[in-house]
Amino acid sequence: MVEVVEHDVLVIGSGLAGLRTALEIKRSPGGDRVDVAIVSKVQLMRSHSVAAEGGTAAVLYPEEGDSVALHAWDTVKGSDFLADQDAVWTMVKLAPEEIRLLERWGMPWSRRPDGRIAQRPFGGHSFPRACYAADKTGFFEMQTLYGRLQAFDGWTRYDEVYVTSIIVEDGWFRGATALDLRSGELLVFRARAGVIATGGAGRIYKFTTYSHSSTGDGLAMALREGIPLKDMEFIQFHPTGLVPSGILITEGARGEGGYLVNAKGERFMKRYAPERMELAPRDVVSRAIMTEIMEGRGLRDEFTGLDYVLLDLRHLGEERISERLPAVREIAIKHAGVDPVEEPIPVRPVAHYTMGGIHTDSYYRVLTAEGRWVRGLWAAGEAASASIHGANRLGSNSTIECLVSGRLVGRQVLRFLEKHPEALRGPSRERVEREEKCVYDELLKRESGESVYEVRERLQETMDRYVYVFRDRSGLEEAVRRIKRLRGAMKNVYPHDKSRVYNTDLVAVLETANMLDVALAVAVSALARTESRGAHYRVDYPRRDDENWLKHTLAVMNANGEIELGYTPVRITTWKPVERRY
Ligand SMILES: Cc1cc2nc3c(=O)[nH]c(=O)nc-3n(C[C@H](O)[C@H](O)[C@H](O)COP(=O)(O)OP(=O)(O)OC[C@H]3O[C@@H](n4cnc5c(N)ncnc54)[C@H](O)[C@@H]3O)c2cc1C
Repeated sequence: MVEVVEHDVLVIGSGLAGLRTALEIKRSPGGDRVDVAIVSKVQLMRSHSVAAEGGTAAVLYPEEGDSVALHAWDTVKGSDFLADQDAVWTMVKLAPEEIRLLERWGMPWSRRPDGRIAQRPFGGHSFPRACYAADKTGFFEMQTLYGRLQAFDGWTRYDEVYVTSIIVEDGWFRGATALDLRSGELLVFRARAGVIATGGAGRIYKFTTYSHSSTGDGLAMALREGIPLKDMEFIQFHPTGLVPSGILITEGARGEGGYLVNAKGERFMKRYAPERMELAPRDVVSRAIMTEIMEGRGLRDEFTGLDYVLLDLRHLGEERISERLPAVREIAIKHAGVDPVEEPIPVRPVAHYTMGGIHTDSYYRVLTAEGRWVRGLWAAGEAASASIHGANRLGSNSTIECLVSGRLVGRQVLRFLEKHPEALRGPSRERVEREEKCVYDELLKRESGESVYEVRERLQETMDRYVYVFRDRSGLEEAVRRIKRLRGAMKNVYPHDKSRVYNTDLVAVLETANMLDVALAVAVSALARTESRGAHYRVDYPRRDDENWLKHTLAVMNANGEIELGYTPVRITTWKPVERRY
């Protein structure tokens, strides 16, 4: 059975970006007349955003020497000059107000002794500007936004509803189809405006900090609608993933003064970033760790075979660790059997952030490859590529992008609805029937074949091995070959479970197909980019090449499901590229 529901706005994703978008709509003049749906494939508050630990960047105290221009410059330099500078300026200018708005809505920011909001240093920022709530910043931000949203009527939450496709027809957003996981029925959303806030795609890797739900569905759905993904080769590897699980040890640990040491007990960062040391940007620190390991100065985990270095917090003392980094201590004790008060923590670079994403302009309007706006459609947060982070994101700049993009999108959605009061058209019947057939006739009825969990695992191993911190042509070619083979294997996977209610097997099939599409875009984009910039490091092309590569990659899926590449210029408004040193 197909159930059809109608809303003015469909927000897909209930992380920081989705909630902030909905809240901006509801709290703005006229917002009370707008009917908003918020859809999430997991419980609303289980979105990956709750896992953000370290902080949210904004300039709060210019009188102490910080400035929005400095925040913009740090971000552009951090991006290895691939960021679109107009978008960066907008974000840094709006950031301080977002922090104060959250404050007003009840956010329990950590404080200075005088009661003002405290800030800690973060990699690549020349001023301590990461606002934090201990090391549970994202969790409290989500609580605060959700709490504030409760003050308004006129919005509906669809928890545990898995969107299977976003529908664009004749250049306009029409709605989406989704699987209601509780009933197993197909839901059709008809809406005037849509916002893709589905987060990143880090689960295409095995060793990753991301929640299991971060499978890049929104990115794959966009690809299938012919919408380009921008700069997908730039995946961030956070330097300190806990060995063996990959759980994040926040950069806040180094912000509070933690050191990285190799097997010989040396503080090796002095060789790679003598000025910034452990607080150099993430791409620099991750490469330094991998170089130490590859040159034989790492340690090895006996059970997993994973090589690692050590993060030493002991000199901070028990009181400071427990007050500022309680989650780090808890995670290290529970998941590695190491109390950081007494022993250093085993860490290695871990897949952590998707710099690329859905191609948008600097106002987060979703664009076609020809640069035309898909009318009525926006992307916000990590799913979008505006592009603020370019080739490398600075820590604490993502949660702030989620907040600012949500606000920008919310405002535009309201104006768009005022301008287009015409009747809602919704997706065509053919599209909906095709979607229904695909899920219920093609997938659910298959009786035998390969295990989807094996396909997923093989994809993750491929990405960990060939599309990691250091890359080269032959490895990337191998990755592309393997991903294509796995995509072929998807034609034979089948869900064991045939029931309709909470069919997690079926979801695994849908997600894995999405992960493969996204992974292919990553590998194909990385193979083409014959230079090293930010997080994309090619051993065979170790230099940045501005002459040929100061441009954004656009990956588009053609009718045969293959990825084709195009390029678009970087918007440079203030700073010409210079050599990047730390
Ligand atoms: C462990 C960790 C720590 C981090 N720490 C920091 C930090 O300290 N500071 C910082 O700035 N950044 C940090 N980041 C990055 C930052 O947290 C994320 O980029 C940001 O929270 C992403 O928010 P989002 O709203 O874009 O998406 P998410 O929070 O990832 O939410 C995605 C939403 O989309 C929904 N969704 C996805 N697919 C579907 C589908 N098919 N159907 C329906 N719903 C769907 C999900 O259910 C979810 O609600 C961290 C990231 C991680 C992984």
